[in-house]
Amino acid sequence: MIVAIAADSPASTSAAVLSAATAHGLAAQTVPDGRGGTVIGVGGSLPPDILDLPGVNGVRAIHKPYMLASLEIRPASTVMVGDVPIGNGTPVIMAGPCSIESRESLIETAHAVKAAGASILRGGAFKPRTSPYSFQGLGEDGLKHLAAARAAIGLPVVTEVMEPDQVELVASYADMLQVGSRNMANFPLLKKLGRAAKPVLLKRGFSATVEEWLMSAEYILASGNPNVVLCERGIRGFDAMFRFNLDLNVVPAVKELSHLPIIVDPSHGTGKRSLVGRMALAGLAAGADGLMIEVHPDPDRAMCDGAQTITPADLARIHRTGLAVHVAIAAADSAEEPAEISLLANDLVALTA
Ligand code: PEP
Ligand code: MN
Repeated sequence: MIVAIAADSPASTSAAVLSAATAHGLAAQTVPDGRGGTVIGVGGSLPPDILDLPGVNGVRAIHKPYMLASLEIRPASTVMVGDVPIGNGTPVIMAGPCSIESRESLIETAHAVKAAGASILRGGAFKPRTSPYSFQGLGEDGLKHLAAARAAIGLPVVTEVMEPDQVELVASYADMLQVGSRNMANFPLLKKLGRAAKPVLLKRGFSATVEEWLMSAEYILASGNPNVVLCERGIRGFDAMFRFNLDLNVVPAVKELSHLPIIVDPSHGTGKRSLVGRMALAGLAAGADGLMIEVHPDPDRAMCDGAQTITPADLARIHRTGLAVHVAIAAADSAEEPAEISLLANDLVALTA
């Protein structure tokens, strides 16, 4: 049940709804509605007399199962990662190596991705590898290198956390906590992240439906953390030519269902360096709020995922052309005359030259 409460309602109203939920043994979570008021998502039905409380604007008994993630409670969300907003209309690029290899190489890559237009540094310290014999990441040493790179370049950092017991440790170093595709349905991890004070990047499981993905986001929101960003990173297809298929359908589809920002990862979504640039632009054209891209100064020597890793120079081009595509599409969406659209096309050519 969703209970909408007006901005000027007395504090006793929210308190009464929350204690009614507790009395009925139902979970409840309060979320700002983005318009000054609040909504309380209750995991079940309360008696209809709560409608009589002062300031209750309405009660919705029929709603999406992912009620806190849905557009039914608020129109949009902007998630802050350090001082970088995601979801405010300007696409954000997160970039860096698949795995952190050493302090020196990470700091070198960090400078390069910042110069190429990234505003968040990525790098894995705990790596979910398909083979137990593959490099598993540097662990806490990697987190220390990440913190050193942040100090060196002044960008916030995102890194993966794989287990509930690692959440405090990773949160003490990182500005954003990544849930990998293989852990999207690790519910104990999601619940723990719901109690963390850092924003979460929730990658889509590579065989997960959109509803399953949004339900995983709901676990984090329902446990009290409102700062969730979704990341489409490719799903399993039948063609061995691609490691995964970047499913860009979900970008506009999620925008029709959820207020959460969504970014696109064309590195894992293609598995192939030569495809990353075009699919990054396609992701932005589809309406993504940002990109996550694997970058290494010498991709062929990367310890992990080299085949899908691009150079800082490639990233600079994606940044330049990506922003132009974003601006052109936003303007074309609001243009009414064909003449305005051809003027925009000229601007686009000038911007990408
Ligand atoms: C990664 O970002 O390096 C990663 C392991 O991604 P995914 O969980 O999407 O495979
Ligand atoms: Mn990777």
